[in-house]
Amino acid sequence: MKAVIFGAPGAGKGTYSSRLQTRLNVDVIAMGDIFREMLKEDSKLGRKVKSYVEKGLLVPDEIVNEVLRQRLSKVPSGKGFILDGYPRTVEQAEMLEKIVKIEVVILLMVPDWIIIERLSSRRICRNCGTVYNIRFLKPKVEGVCDKCGGELYQRPDDTPEVIKQRLHVYEEQTEPILRRFKDKKVPFVIAHCDKLDMPPETIVEEIVRDLEKLGLV
Ligand SMILES: [Zn+2]
Repeated sequence: MKAVIFGAPGAGKGTYSSRLQTRLNVDVIAMGDIFREMLKEDSKLGRKVKSYVEKGLLVPDEIVNEVLRQRLSKVPSGKGFILDGYPRTVEQAEMLEKIVKIEVVILLMVPDWIIIERLSSRRICRNCGTVYNIRFLKPKVEGVCDKCGGELYQRPDDTPEVIKQRLHVYEEQTEPILRRFKDKKVPFVIAHCDKLDMPPETIVEEIVRDLEKLGLV
């Protein structure tokens, strides 16, 4: 399965991707994580990325593309992947088409009020970026990352006003990308989460069922 996953900030994309990763034995390729790793390692491409990030500049598409190409080449043949955080623009979607044929778009649909409720209880690991939720996805020890022992913090911009603004930006940016995938006849698996306390497993199983129907898993 070659998939891309879309969901508004706070829709639980990270949570669902990592559960799908375990459930389906696929790779999750999260662009944010790849960049974080690259900044730590000393490679030619890593140094290039670093030079932009250090200046606070956006990493140009050609470089992002190269990073992605390298990462995709590491996916064992026959193993599927879920791409998370890419493409972010129609231009990137066009470049992606040249690298790999995406077979399915997994789209998370979550009402704004649920996102707002969730994000205000979200905590993030300062060290590895793992996301927790003090209501639904608690770490084993309060304030400490299960994976790396890092400190958990709350983003200062996780307030309802800023979240609403971010959701608006997300919709404006994502709509044309989704339209592009539709135009290219890429099938969609749409996961609806309309209850605040809906367990992630329920949604993951729905996604898996739909993927099975498409013959992708
Ligand atoms: Zn951590």
